[in-house]
Amino acid sequence: MICIPVMDATQREALRSVEKSAVLADAIEVRMDWITDGDVAELIRAARRASAGVKIIVTCRRKEESLLAQENLPALPVKERTRAAKMTLLETAVSSGADFVDIELAEGDSAISRMRSRCHKRPNPARLIVSWHDPYKTPSLASLKKIFDACVQVGADIVKMVPYARSLSDNATVLRLIDYAKDQGREIIAMCMGEKGQISRVLAPSRGSYLGFAVLPGGRVSAPGQLTISQMRVFQKLLSGRQRFFEPPQGDLHFVLLGNPVRQSLSPLMHQSAFRAMKVNAFYSAFCVGDLAAAVAGIRATNIRGASVTIPFKTAVMDYLDEIDADAAAVGAVNTIVNDDGRLIGHNTDWSALMDALRAETQMKGKKFIILGAGGTARAAAYGITKEGGRPIIVNRTPETGRELAARFDCPFYPLSEIDKIRAFGLIHTTPVGMFPNCNSSPVDSSILANYRVVADVVYNPLKTRLIRDAEAKGCKTIPGLEMFVRQGARQLNLWTGGKAPLAVMRNTVRERLMRHES
Ligand code: NAP
Repeated sequence: MICIPVMDATQREALRSVEKSAVLADAIEVRMDWITDGDVAELIRAARRASAGVKIIVTCRRKEESLLAQENLPALPVKERTRAAKMTLLETAVSSGADFVDIELAEGDSAISRMRSRCHKRPNPARLIVSWHDPYKTPSLASLKKIFDACVQVGADIVKMVPYARSLSDNATVLRLIDYAKDQGREIIAMCMGEKGQISRVLAPSRGSYLGFAVLPGGRVSAPGQLTISQMRVFQKLLSGRQRFFEPPQGDLHFVLLGNPVRQSLSPLMHQSAFRAMKVNAFYSAFCVGDLAAAVAGIRATNIRGASVTIPFKTAVMDYLDEIDADAAAVGAVNTIVNDDGRLIGHNTDWSALMDALRAETQMKGKKFIILGAGGTARAAAYGITKEGGRPIIVNRTPETGRELAARFDCPFYPLSEIDKIRAFGLIHTTPVGMFPNCNSSPVDSSILANYRVVADVVYNPLKTRLIRDAEAKGCKTIPGLEMFVRQGARQLNLWTGGKAPLAVMRNTVRERLMRHES
């Protein structure tokens, strides 16, 4: 089991992290010592809404147990709580439905026994984790065993022991402690903190530690040496022998496109050409889907290895998956499914493909980009530009949807009729205007294009839209929709096979087909 600690400074941020983490991890640990205005009951409700199956641990450490003092990591902004306030908070967590509460051995017999009876009084009892940390060293195995016994003695359902590794051999000591707990039929969470303890974080869960900790990509660590959730999952698969490094997949593999309609899609042609070039035995077929739930069940039932998802299912499909990658969760759409031994994981390659295409022409940091449109592709563009350090400006035909998107990314909004008033480095067009057969339409008057250095269009049929032609005539750098299309496909192939996609082959295949179509 992998657990993500939620360690934000405010309730608002913590709610966002809880929602993200609950769909990615098996368990979350809500660190109430960090969340200054924290409402534990509301956080538990949010986690349950996000994922009915996620396990919830509630912890409230004392300031003197701060674990980040080592290795120059930032000091904890731990909220000071009295012992009484801390006990009340943990009791609220129990009555609000937490699966586990964590209390330190140092709190003493009577506090621990009071909390234990609270946990066990519930019809569906919460489990008590009694924890012990040493942020400076790893004591001898004999000493660790004594501390373990003391935790059991005071009534722990699960013992948690996390010392600090000063040398690699400290990891071995902690792994032997896990054997000691297992020999007694007891559950333990154990690992070492610190750079030198990282290996125990990887090995402990496969050795029998009840869970391991990981952070969201870019997330805050709760103890030195923590890995991200995707790093932990890769290591777990490697250790269990389910994944080898970058070997081409063996045997016939099947991939599908789920959409409605799909008749015009060039994805089958593009992916099939890529599989041939990669020498992977794979088949890619497009399915026009009427019943999305049944289509996703079909992926599981027939061991289809992956899927592309297109209009109109990119958001709806999220409800049927086991895990959503953090970027896809933030964009709010999935265009790629990876079937990882029966576990369906949703990704979004649209936003990263658009950023790859832009990055090939310019860097985005600190620059203003108008995003024309407020639909799914505009959301992907706004997410990508923000992540690259750029400044999105939303422009849309319908003010309500435009304002909503702008509020989500905390950026300005202008109605389409006022686009000529905005000065920006680039324009990213994300509406269907100009798409075949309306090849002579453009979303904006050509006179305003001189306001921008770069113009990108997501429409890829025709190859050169009216917007791209007008922008070229004004001397702008241009990025046609084909670039985003082939790059989102290339990233899908990478997720499905682990291999590098043949971008040039894919681009030429799609370009040739579109040129034939246009002639
Ligand atoms: P969407 O969610 O339906 O959003 C469409 C947006 O376009 C809305 O903001 C809508 O504005 C606006 N719009 C539609 N018709 C318009 C018109 N006549 N004038 C002005 N604005 C108009 O669609 P989407 O999923 O984002 O897809 C948008 C386009 O991106 C499609 O053409 C799709 O094929 C393309 N796409 C390309 C790639 C690629 O790889 N190149 C990837 C994904 C999508 P309102 O809010 O006013 O209705």
